[in-house]
Amino acid sequence: MSPDHAHSHHPEPIAPVEARVAALETVLAENGLLDRTALDEIVAHFEDDLSPLNGAKVVAHAWVDPDYRARLLDDGTPAIAELGFGGPEGDHMVVVENTSTVHNLVVCTLCSCYPWPILGLPPRWYKAPAYRSRAVREPRALLREMGTAVPESVEIRVWDSSAEVRYLVLPRRPAGTEELTETALAGLVTRDSMIGVERL
Ligand code: FE
Repeated sequence: MSPDHAHSHHPEPIAPVEARVAALETVLAENGLLDRTALDEIVAHFEDDLSPLNGAKVVAHAWVDPDYRARLLDDGTPAIAELGFGGPEGDHMVVVENTSTVHNLVVCTLCSCYPWPILGLPPRWYKAPAYRSRAVREPRALLREMGTAVPESVEIRVWDSSAEVRYLVLPRRPAGTEELTETALAGLVTRDSMIGVERL
């Protein structure tokens, strides 16, 4: 078989996703089912307003302001709103703090519930059945495979997200960062550390 025939079982390749989206937009707009300006605004909202940079700001602020940290752990939603973040998929936030003896890990065993306003859209692996089941069944082995070794002396607590409650992990502030500004500290905070699959 020549290379040209290697994919002959796909006689009509599926068009690239961009072309398909453009075609769908056209059909919907022509039929009065879609307001393109509104769609642009929604896309901009997802791209600009929902981001793990928001969660990083929350974490860094908690690291430098003990009173804020206390409010954040006491009732996450209003404390996060103090920094201007909130809304759908983030209106019942619970913040769980990593310590020298406890490491927190967030999962949604049912589907993919995730705090969009402060972490953006969930990564692909977060939605994978393997992550969702193993995070509960064998979190330590799962984390090790994801490159995060949690010492046996550290308890792993697993938090199951739901339509009602979304979790944010407050990672430990790395050693040797006493001199950093809050902005610089925020730059150290990764999305994965706020899900609990990474330790800073
Ligand atoms: Fe879910």
